[in-house]
Amino acid sequence: MGLVIYLNGEFVDEEEAKISVFDHGVLYGDGVFEGIRAYNGRVFRLSQHIDRLYESAKSILLDIGMTKEEMSEALLETLRRNNLRDAYIRLVVTRGKGDLGLDPRMCSKPTVFIIAAQIQLYPEELYEKGLEVVTVPTRRNIVEGVNPRIKSLNYLNNILAKIEANLAGVSEAILLNNEGYVTECTGDNIFIVKNGEVITPPPFLGILEGVTRNSILEIAEKLGYRTAEKVFTRHDLYVADECFLTGTAAEVVPVVKVDGRVIGEDGKPGKITATLIREFRKLTAVDGTEIYPNR
Ligand code: PMP
Repeated sequence: MGLVIYLNGEFVDEEEAKISVFDHGVLYGDGVFEGIRAYNGRVFRLSQHIDRLYESAKSILLDIGMTKEEMSEALLETLRRNNLRDAYIRLVVTRGKGDLGLDPRMCSKPTVFIIAAQIQLYPEELYEKGLEVVTVPTRRNIVEGVNPRIKSLNYLNNILAKIEANLAGVSEAILLNNEGYVTECTGDNIFIVKNGEVITPPPFLGILEGVTRNSILEIAEKLGYRTAEKVFTRHDLYVADECFLTGTAAEVVPVVKVDGRVIGEDGKPGKITATLIREFRKLTAVDGTEIYPNR
């Protein structure tokens, strides 16, 4: 027996979880998704992820055909059927089965599936030593096109950037927008710390508004740090005191080198970054929707 997958209202073994080759999610990347994590029997920020999913779907005029409550329950039940307390959850809604043309009117019913799998933790070393990253030639999608605020199934732009990071032999790519402002990485948001201020680009610039990003802003404010959502350039990155990335999968990861420039004084993860990593871990251990409320 493999994983139990939620697929269109049913729970099936992963071997049985099949979708049509005419699904527009496969043919055109026409759909939306979420990546969510459960820690210690609780789903972190479930309602924020579900809200973002429905906003992404609304933006591309995709009717999910389920209420948010039904979707949340389907997700929790998928975790229960797999007996998971710590997990990475992938929730996908595609336009559904259509014909070979791209017209979404040919798709009468969306495809919804939920995969809950054991989480593959990154090595702890990564969090202690920090990453080297580069800025890459591929630009973040323009907001007038597929707005990066939509968590769409079309990640090819991000994949191109990831290939560029791979070719450069580093862990992550930073994408700029067409005006040269720093946006985000291929699957993570970016922060810098300068003179004690915790800074991250604003959503209107064309970024995915990360749930982890927003949690970090909240935590930083609670701890009394100054925070700002403002645009910055590569130069600001190079001369930052600290830099880190945030995302559901990676959580909070320090960056110690950007385009060959050592960040901060000594190339070690910064103090504020380390504090935010610690506080974020404290929060995820206790805050979230209970998967097994009656146990
Ligand atoms: N930016 C992009 C492009 C992403 O794919 C992700 C991961 N979903 C993030 C940022 C981080 O968002 P979150 O903290 O909600 O996982």
